[in-house]
Amino acid sequence: MELRGALSWACCLVSSLYLCSAFVLPVGNSAPAARIQDPAVGQFWHVTDLHLDPTYHITEDHTKVCSSSKGANASNPGPFGDFLCDSPYQLILSAFNFIKSSGQQASFMIWTGDSPPHVPVKELSTDIVINVIGNMTTTIQSLFPNFQVFPALGNHDYWPQDQLPISTSKVYEAVANFWKPWLTEESIRTLRTGGFYSQTVPSHLSRQSLRIISLNTNLYYSPNAVTLNKTDPANQFEWLENTLKSSRQNKEKVYVIAHVPVGYLPCSRDVTAMREYYNEKLIGIFHNYSDVIAGQFYGHTHRDSIMVLSDRKGNPVNSLFVAPAVTPVKNVLEKQTNNPGVRLFQYDLHDYQLLDIWQYYLNLTEANMKEEPSWKLEYILTKAYGIEDLQPKNLYGLAKQFAVLDSKLFLTYYKYFFVSYDSNIICSRECKTYQICAIMNLDQISYTDCLKQYGL
Ligand SMILES: [Zn+2]
Ligand SMILES: [Zn+2]
Repeated sequence: MELRGALSWACCLVSSLYLCSAFVLPVGNSAPAARIQDPAVGQFWHVTDLHLDPTYHITEDHTKVCSSSKGANASNPGPFGDFLCDSPYQLILSAFNFIKSSGQQASFMIWTGDSPPHVPVKELSTDIVINVIGNMTTTIQSLFPNFQVFPALGNHDYWPQDQLPISTSKVYEAVANFWKPWLTEESIRTLRTGGFYSQTVPSHLSRQSLRIISLNTNLYYSPNAVTLNKTDPANQFEWLENTLKSSRQNKEKVYVIAHVPVGYLPCSRDVTAMREYYNEKLIGIFHNYSDVIAGQFYGHTHRDSIMVLSDRKGNPVNSLFVAPAVTPVKNVLEKQTNNPGVRLFQYDLHDYQLLDIWQYYLNLTEANMKEEPSWKLEYILTKAYGIEDLQPKNLYGLAKQFAVLDSKLFLTYYKYFFVSYDSNIICSRECKTYQICAIMNLDQISYTDCLKQYGL
């Protein structure tokens, strides 16, 4: 009951947005855009893992600040959240208000899922999950009217969580309706039946088209019992291969967006986010179409990481990016988490090659202390690492430099991995090996070889 009450409170805030949007938002104090002066450079935003906790409220009893702390004492709750809680509405609103007022011109936004909070299954329901996704959609649509957004579903965007189905469902129907202003009829049709779609991005500059493929990788997520022993859930693999084949014929470039990433988790030994069979299958498809795919964008881990896909001969062919979450939440037993983050990509408007990342973040402790959400630039990727652009060969070269003993660049990478949550954090030899093997190896054979090579 408590959750339902709080939900309608959050919805009130959403409706007040319509009033707020009448005001002109000031241009933020972000650093001046460098490359964007060049008319051949385009930009897009990536936001992920909002995880709204509608129960969040400041109260004396710190065990009652948010359902997502699961009875643990909130650590230092303030208006923009707490590291043991999912996002209060104020935090999410501050992220989107920052994007709106940043002064950065972007042609679209990708939004890679996970809107509901991390709470026990019995505290949610299909209706609450739909309500939360609807609330987040309305927030975006009212702050950014007529702006193109490409969403993807996350494993929490369903009830019970992780159990995304292989045919139509109440949630797929609901999001298809919410997202109608952004998507074509064909996209809506496949979204309704399998939770995935593909769509081109209108462009004036290039003869070549850019296609967004939004995959429902939650079908491949290990805890999804619905897809156990299924070789091609919702026929998404077949659809993906056909879509990539026709993109190649039409000389399009493709950005793949999805929630659960391919590859290995950078903080554990030998663990893929999706079932190994599905990981191998996807990597196989990405190998076959690496000439068509110009970038891959994921969420889910809540951390900031890169991956480089190499072809069967070991040449780097694709760049993949996992964006950090907006939610700062951590489990009471975990030491590390992330500050809230959102990012801006720069890309070449002619061939859609990725040029740079501008990573923005909110220092949550400071924001709560000052009672003001000052989102700031955390880093510009090419400047932080001294590389020219985000081409696979450059990221591969960077990962090679990380691997060097006492690499300063790796320390920087590890600090940004947690969105500057803790600058003094130490990564042991094993920790560093897992990180590096996960950056450079996405399939089982090469990953296992990598561990061996480092004697693990
Ligand atoms: Zn998440
Ligand atoms: Zn997730």
